Amino acid sequence: MSYQVGIIGAGPSGYTAAIYASRANLNTVLFTGLEPGGQLMLTSDVENWPGEEHGILGPELMAKLRTQAGRFGAEIKELSVTAVDLISHPKKLTLSNGTVAECESVIIATGASAKWLDVHGEAKLRGRGVSACATCDGFFFKGKNVAVVGGGDSAMEEANFLTKFASSVTVIHRSAEFKASKIMLTRAQNNPKISFKMNAKVVEVLGEDRVTGLKIENLIDQTSADLPFDGLFVAIGHFPNSAIFANQLTVDRKGYITVLTGTTQTNIPGVFAAGDVVDHLYRQAVTAAGTGCIAALEAERWISHGA
Ligand code: NDP
Repeated sequence: MSYQVGIIGAGPSGYTAAIYASRANLNTVLFTGLEPGGQLMLTSDVENWPGEEHGILGPELMAKLRTQAGRFGAEIKELSVTAVDLISHPKKLTLSNGTVAECESVIIATGASAKWLDVHGEAKLRGRGVSACATCDGFFFKGKNVAVVGGGDSAMEEANFLTKFASSVTVIHRSAEFKASKIMLTRAQNNPKISFKMNAKVVEVLGEDRVTGLKIENLIDQTSADLPFDGLFVAIGHFPNSAIFANQLTVDRKGYITVLTGTTQTNIPGVFAAGDVVDHLYRQAVTAAGTGCIAALEAERWISHGA
C-alpha cells in the first residue's frame, strides 16, 4: 500500500484533511482507528457547526464528513495504526491487520480523549445526562440542577458556562485545594448559581435512562449520600492521543504534539498534526476541522515542493 497522504484519525480534523487532500487529487488514505468519529460520537445535538442551522446529531455529522471524504476518492480504512516510522522516506505506518502503509506525508489527527471518573453508571448514561463538554451539551440543561466534577480551570469554566442554562451548578471537588487559576476560581465563587462541595467524590451515577442523581462520598468522614441531579459534567482533564508518536515527534509536557506556530508542521518534515492532539485550548469541532484543512494544504505544498 502506497499513498501520497496518510491520515491517522477520523474526527472532524482527519475527515476535513481527507476531503481537502483527495479533492486536490492526492492519493489519500485515512485510518479511522478504533473509535471512528472521535469525541463527537459521544455528543447528541451539535448546534454550533456552521451551516447546520437546526443543529445536527454528532454521529450524523461524522457520517456526512466521511461520505464527503469518500466522494473525492479518499480511501477510508477501519484500521488502527499501531506503530509509525516517520523518519524514513516514505514514512511507514504499521496497521492493526499487520500490514504496512507507505506514505509520502502523514497527517496526525488522533484527537484527545476526555478523562472519565470510571464509576458505576457513568458509561451507561453518557449522552443521557453525563457529558464532558458543557459547550456541546449545556443547552440541554435549561432550568436543571447539574454537577461539575473537577477543581481545575476546565471545571470552573464549565461551571460558569453552565449557569447560562442551569438553575444551579454544584462543583464537586475531591480536595480543598484548587488547581484552577485565581481569576477563574474567583469568578466561579462569585457566581450566585454556583455552590461548592469540597473533599467529596462521586462514587456512582444514579438513574436508569437518564441521570437522576449522584452518590457522593464525603472524604473527611467517609459517609455517603444520594443527592438529586439532572446532569453530571466531568471536567477532570483530557489526554492527547499521541503515545505512539511521542518517541519521534516533539510533544509538550502533557503530550500534546508541538507544531510550528501558525502551521501544522511538526518537527519532522512531511509530518503534520491537527485538531485536538495539538490544541488543548479551544477543542471545538470547527477549530479541529480548520486545522485539518491547513494540514492538507501544507501536505500538498510539501509533496509538490519539499518531498
Ligand atoms: P487540570 O489538570 O488542571 O485539573 C484537573 C482537575 O480534576 C484537578 O482539580 C484534579 O484534582 C481533578 N481530577 C483529576 N482526576 C480526577 C478524578 N479521577 N476524580 C476527581 N477529580 C479528578 O485540568 P483542566 O482540564 O482543568 O485544565 C487543563 C489545562 O487547560 C490547564 O493548564 C488549564 O489552565 C487549561 N485551561 C485553561 C482555560 C482557560 O484559560 N480559559 C480553560 C480550561 C483549561 P486534584 O487537584 O486533586 O489533582
